[in-house]
Amino acid sequence: MSTHRTLAERCSFCGREKKDTNMLIAGISGNICDICVEQAYLIVEEELKKKGKNLNLDSFQLMNPVEIKTFLDGYVIGQDEAKKFLAVAVYNHYKRLMQPKRSNKADDDVEIEKSNIILVGETGTGKTLLARTIAKMLHVPFTIVDATVLTEAGYVGEDVESILTRLLQVADYNVDAAEKGIVFIDELDKIARKSDNPSITRDVSGEGVQQGLLKLLEGAVVNVPPQGGRKHPEQKMIPVDTRNILFICGGAFDGIDRKIAQRLNTRVVGYNNVKETEQIDRNNMLQYIAPQDLKSFGLIPEIIGRLPVLTYLHPLDRSALRNILTQPKNAIIKQYQKLFLMDDVQLTFDEAVLDLIVDKAIEFKLGARGLRSICEAIMTDVMFEIPSTNEKTVNITLDDAKEKLEKINANKLKAA
Ligand code: ADP
Repeated sequence: MSTHRTLAERCSFCGREKKDTNMLIAGISGNICDICVEQAYLIVEEELKKKGKNLNLDSFQLMNPVEIKTFLDGYVIGQDEAKKFLAVAVYNHYKRLMQPKRSNKADDDVEIEKSNIILVGETGTGKTLLARTIAKMLHVPFTIVDATVLTEAGYVGEDVESILTRLLQVADYNVDAAEKGIVFIDELDKIARKSDNPSITRDVSGEGVQQGLLKLLEGAVVNVPPQGGRKHPEQKMIPVDTRNILFICGGAFDGIDRKIAQRLNTRVVGYNNVKETEQIDRNNMLQYIAPQDLKSFGLIPEIIGRLPVLTYLHPLDRSALRNILTQPKNAIIKQYQKLFLMDDVQLTFDEAVLDLIVDKAIEFKLGARGLRSICEAIMTDVMFEIPSTNEKTVNITLDDAKEKLEKINANKLKAA
């Protein structure tokens, strides 16, 4: 009885007496004061935040490839083949993460290999967007690196390890989270070697970088400089295991259609199969892309072998561009409307304005990337003026849009 009395009057965590607290909450065999509750809450919050950066495999299990594709559909227009390939690859990748460790499965030697992905398609067709959306869905650290800045170790430029530095940075240096992250390597085509024959001269930014990348793609423990670069030679390296990092590579591979055509022609002629020739859709050769075309383009076979999922993106046609303006969850037009709504202003556009934006993007050969800069050109004056007026509705007419665009030339839009 007397023990119970002492417990009832003190916080079991900090020992404060009841009179020194605002509140003392009684438990079965102890008490906690309001100050300790608050501290405990902060600790829990911090821990949950850290965990949030980790991949929650249980919740991922709920997403099957069809659901992954549906999620992608919310953000990316078209590109159904690429979405399907990505959905399956990502699903398998995370299934692989969930398979029991080798030591636990003596009776089963089947080890699922990593399915890094390569997306081939013109610039501005949604490669980065697809990778970004996948990362958003999985809540994993995600980073984009440009292959063109990478050079072979020891040369001017960035070492391939810098890719992992960035991943660590976005994961707040939580190595565990970074090791399950996704890296998008853009412009992989730019590190292709210049000819199909191995060169005898040093190829600092081509084959050398491919060799460096190979190590990351294969899965290895890599010592990563936490601040990147060689500016801080004294920094302590962080070992990062890349075995479970999913690499998604993208590139336009300009001119690869000719390599594809060459291969198809030889094959068709070789087998003398006229019917097959007829079926080839010459306007979209990318759909026939195969690993050997990447080799002809100048990727080393080892890299190609480490990017087993190869898929392509379609060039965006008029209707795709039109849909991109309004349909995705964060479509450009929706973004402007949201901005205006924050000032209680209803923003609408004449349909013809949207068609004009698409026409201009096509005319200036700016693709989807140009949509935004064209919209900005149309909207800037309105966004400048409206907040200082009492207008509650704004409708952009075709004449308004034409007038704004007349002042702008294509070069200006490209620079935007
Ligand atoms: P890239 O293929 O060069 O990586 P991005 O994914 O960076 O192209 O696309 C640039 C921008 O164009 C995106 O941020 C997005 O706004 C838009 N975009 C491109 N393709 C699509 C698409 N298929 N669906 C929706 N938006 C797209």
